[in-house]
Amino acid sequence: MTATGDRGFILILSAPSGAGKSTLARVLCQRVEGVITSVSTTTRQPRGGEVEGEAYFFVRDEAFRERVAVGEFLEWAEVYGNCYGTSRSFVEEALAQGKVVLLDIDWQGARQVRGNMPEGDVIGVAILPPSQETLLTRLRARGQDAPEVIARRMAQAGAEVSHWGEYDYIVVNDDLERAGAELLAIVTAERLRRERARQRIVRILATFGFCI
Ligand code: 5GP
Repeated sequence: MTATGDRGFILILSAPSGAGKSTLARVLCQRVEGVITSVSTTTRQPRGGEVEGEAYFFVRDEAFRERVAVGEFLEWAEVYGNCYGTSRSFVEEALAQGKVVLLDIDWQGARQVRGNMPEGDVIGVAILPPSQETLLTRLRARGQDAPEVIARRMAQAGAEVSHWGEYDYIVVNDDLERAGAELLAIVTAERLRRERARQRIVRILATFGFCI
């Protein structure tokens, strides 16, 4: 449990590849106490510099399918030809400890999480690039993917941004500092919601002699 004793919540961040989502997630974890990232499992090959257990848990197709079969994933989806999944037990434990759990997942996964968790547990943020052109420039500049992979990611970017209406908040990442500050504001406001403040309220009202 955290100092407040209240349950945490899931903060879904969805964006097309190259919109700056991973950087924003890192900024949030560094600047705000009690925010943690769930490390997904994937069948994709590691990119240069990606560390097992930090970026992802990398597994083969068969191992992934076995985990799906035993219900290990809170959600999973095929994205850009590879499978990605979120550990159910990790998320449940973190929520019980009062953490804000960041899920860097696509729109298909976001839908499943909304369907599998109580409504108050899930806040969705769509991070959008300022334009399609900016996205292409960023994907090329990061130099991590082959041209055909970039072409596939660009083709799917349209699908990702078209689901903006399913999210609670929209953050346009044209300036990293500002987008980071906006995400921080979202987390702060969500933490202050009345429904998440029960334990704090109980303690304060008890000092006034109220029992709720
Ligand atoms: P990348 O291969 O660039 O790291 O990620 C590709 C896409 O997969 C991103 O849109 C990312 O949000 C999504 N993704 C990463 N982990 C998960 C996951 O556990 N579940 C789902 N549904 N999508 C994920």
